[in-house]
Amino acid sequence: MFLSLLITKFCGALPLHELSTAVSIVETVTRVAEANNVKKILEINVEIGQFTFINPEQLRFLFEIAADKTPLKDSKLNISIVSGKIHCNDCGYSGDVISEEDQKKAHLLPLVGFTAKCPECNSSNTEIIGGRQLNIKNIKAEVDEETPQN
Ligand SMILES: [Zn+2]
Repeated sequence: MFLSLLITKFCGALPLHELSTAVSIVETVTRVAEANNVKKILEINVEIGQFTFINPEQLRFLFEIAADKTPLKDSKLNISIVSGKIHCNDCGYSGDVISEEDQKKAHLLPLVGFTAKCPECNSSNTEIIGGRQLNIKNIKAEVDEETPQN
């Protein structure tokens, strides 16, 4: 009982969502690196859906910790936020939940607590139809052999 209470308290203070995401990126890329005889990863480009509510700054910070002692150490994590998509049940709008302008600013904003309001009629009667994904788009790595790179 005491232990579980302690863990609960600990979890409350830690961004667990970002931590598990950081760990899974490191594990996935490490597996790819090992399979391809890659000794050092230079850059990782990831796409994060807006509705994952992942905080990019926290993710980057935890990624650096998770990447220690792996081929990903000192690599650069490039994060791009993919806009969430909704369908509005009131006016029938389907598409991005925020304007393009806001989208550019989105990586600077904490996305926690964001509500999926319709940009057309401001209704909250909406369904999420996109933006929950996390994709590792590509990886830039250093290889030992002199193989041509594209
Ligand atoms: Zn609407």
